[in-house]
Amino acid sequence: MTLDLASYAAERGVKYFMISFTDLFGGQRAKLVPAQAISDMQADGAGFAGFATWLDMTPAHPDMLAVPDPSSVIQLPWKPEVAWVASNCVMEGEDVAQAPRNVLRQQIKDAAALGLHVKTGVEAEFFLLTPDGSQISDEYDTAAKPCYDQQAVMRRYDVVREICDYMLELGWGPYQNDHEDANGQFEMNWEFDDVLATADKHSFFKFMAKSVAEKHGLRATFMPKPIEGLTGNGCHVHVSVWDAPGEAAKTNVFATDKGEGPAGELGLSEQGRAFLGGIMTHATGMAAITNPTVNSYKRINAPRTVSGASWAPNTVTWTGNNRTHMVRVPGPGRFELRLPDGAANPYLLQAVIIAAGLDGIRTNADPGKRYDIDMYAEGHKVRGAPKLPLNMLDALRAFNKDKGLKASMGDDFAQAFLNLKHQEWNDFTSHFSEWEKANTLDI
Ligand code: ADP
Ligand code: MG
Ligand code: MG
Ligand code: MG
Ligand code: MG
Repeated sequence: MTLDLASYAAERGVKYFMISFTDLFGGQRAKLVPAQAISDMQADGAGFAGFATWLDMTPAHPDMLAVPDPSSVIQLPWKPEVAWVASNCVMEGEDVAQAPRNVLRQQIKDAAALGLHVKTGVEAEFFLLTPDGSQISDEYDTAAKPCYDQQAVMRRYDVVREICDYMLELGWGPYQNDHEDANGQFEMNWEFDDVLATADKHSFFKFMAKSVAEKHGLRATFMPKPIEGLTGNGCHVHVSVWDAPGEAAKTNVFATDKGEGPAGELGLSEQGRAFLGGIMTHATGMAAITNPTVNSYKRINAPRTVSGASWAPNTVTWTGNNRTHMVRVPGPGRFELRLPDGAANPYLLQAVIIAAGLDGIRTNADPGKRYDIDMYAEGHKVRGAPKLPLNMLDALRAFNKDKGLKASMGDDFAQAFLNLKHQEWNDFTSHFSEWEKANTLDI
């Protein structure tokens, strides 16, 4: 049964709804709608001029309507008179094909048609910086190996505890919080869920972490490499596939106990293996979406960081429980994609994983040889594995060349995404840099 938002507001004392959607660059856009007006908006959606956001529309396009999905509604724990609700973009009665939440919903339908129901968990790392974003906010957080730093995590207890309390209140099943591998960096983990729920939670988590940090006079950033030389913000995704959605899920169809050999390598079933094969086959094209910014390429392919390792991949390889590869299989029945970073759009991130994985299942793709080596020290021993793109333009070109992945993601989406991202790249290259001057002035 569909939740009636007007009754929800009356029961909980909600005065305003944020009718929110995410554009192609991952920006969250919202209208604040008073509870008195929510009934009509729930039925018809809130109106937006698509061109004013990153959706590759023109000023002449008709109004876009953001129609709330009431199952996603969250009362803001830090401001209970407001509730956030994710919405689906519609224009002239049709879903806007390139709108990220629609792209993911389509992937979910495609997977369901094959009897597959994806569940994922994300690890959205972030930094707590000074309000202007220029430096780490804790001047004592200077250790060379700051991961799990007990003293430093407790200096940010007020922020971390507040966010974790809210996740507990929301029933997300948070289970650990830590100081991460860079000075000023943190990670907070909550339970995996159906892929659309995870994408909504991921969006909301970013909004919540930024809001709570601001309240404490800090700035939370998910930027892939906010501080030169330090480990960047990853956004690993753990993936498993089940026989049914939600609570009805009984069997993890990625899991098997067939033992070693292709039928059961590392506890991955044949379907799990083929899905992973799709990820391996499409990885360089996927990077345009999992690592979508100019700055993303300062995280992957990075030189050794101050802590000793970047923890980010540079080559398309997979392994068992070893964190130096693009894919890690930490245990039976799931894999971890370590490629994505904090700039990834929460919806497109999940969508591209399913698109690549389903293509793998359809073509019975082989993930290739598994390497149980330290990729940072022994990567030269790997022959023939593709290198990840070195910059955003290479990634866009790899995505453009991957016709299978584009078709699987939807050609309308692919075109809109490539248009906007090429514009962004051109904008970037038109900027004059200090480096150019230093290296060219005296030539
Ligand atoms: P690590 O740092 O070792 O990669 P974390 O504990 O930080 O792992 O994050 C693991 C994420 O994977 C969590 O969101 C967790 O709920 C999720 N996860 C665990 N099991 C599965 C599974 N079977 N399918 C999908 N996600 C899973
Ligand atoms: Mg107006
Ligand atoms: Mg983790
Ligand atoms: Mg981490
Ligand atoms: Mg991880």
